[in-house]
Amino acid sequence: MNSQAEDISKVGNNHTINENNIATVDKKVIKDRIINFDNMTVLSPSLTPSILNEEPMIPNISEKERQNLPLPDKLPIVNCIARARIPTTNGPEIFLHLYENNIDNKEHLAIVFGEDIRSKTLYKKREGETQQDRMTRGAYIGKLFPGRTEADYDSQLNLRLKFNSNGELIYERDTSHTEPTLVRIHSECYTGETAWSARCDCGEQFDEAGRLMGENGHGCMVYLRQEGRGIGLGEKLKAYNLQDLGADTVQANLLLRHPADGRSFSLATAILDDLNLLEIQLLTNNPDKIIAVEGKHQVIKVIERIPMVPLAWRSKEGIQSKEVEGYLRTKIERMGHLLEKPLKI
Ligand SMILES: [Zn+2]
Repeated sequence: MNSQAEDISKVGNNHTINENNIATVDKKVIKDRIINFDNMTVLSPSLTPSILNEEPMIPNISEKERQNLPLPDKLPIVNCIARARIPTTNGPEIFLHLYENNIDNKEHLAIVFGEDIRSKTLYKKREGETQQDRMTRGAYIGKLFPGRTEADYDSQLNLRLKFNSNGELIYERDTSHTEPTLVRIHSECYTGETAWSARCDCGEQFDEAGRLMGENGHGCMVYLRQEGRGIGLGEKLKAYNLQDLGADTVQANLLLRHPADGRSFSLATAILDDLNLLEIQLLTNNPDKIIAVEGKHQVIKVIERIPMVPLAWRSKEGIQSKEVEGYLRTKIERMGHLLEKPLKI
């Protein structure tokens, strides 16, 4: 075993919170809970291959194993209610898609790179609507310009949409983008994306995924409103205080009686299906996300996994803080993330 392997093999034995640091909480309760959580692998080993296994890049699970996973049998129903072109400060144009769904009241988004990626629900013809209505909600082809009257036909670019007799969009074979679409599933992180937090690398990952998709000219970032691994911003702030008291990311959530990771990706699966992005390259280090996004019936197929290596590991850029180092360490040690560079333990 090389030293890297040895370091990793020790993982899981060093997770205790220094009780003296938690003066105001009932120590016995905390102690009982810590004993329960100590050495706990949060995710099932079959879903979380060791980072020492170089292959496979995509977790290999049997059909039976997939059926036994706690994934919803039926995908949520999603409906794209509007789409708009957004020129960005970084150069590439994006098309922002806003979704409603039947399982929560949040406004989940798809940030789409590429004019030709279209939503089934947005483009489906609705009874009584006008071409103006369709342009207003973003169900048009090509580019809007002052005086344009038809959503289904761009007279300047000579592009036309086709529909079947049910008013559903017919997807034409796109010859310019033959490879699986680059996709990132990103969960909202107010602190990391807006408040410059160096406790996590969400902001950096978001920017990096956008940069890669902009460069590629084609891609989709599904932006799910599940702050703090699904526990919400208020609870996340409490978890940060527990972390300052010595807990790691996983322990802090468990002490607050939340799951280590309360996120669900079935909305992302449904949104990708709605955008007809059925074969994808997924930007992630998280093997569980691959299977969760594919769903129980593998509506979506992850053809390739593309790792997200923290910028600070590659160059002098990127987030440098002891908090982010601990956060990444927990992701690797406790949540089975497939990051290749070992951190100092
Ligand atoms: Zn974050």
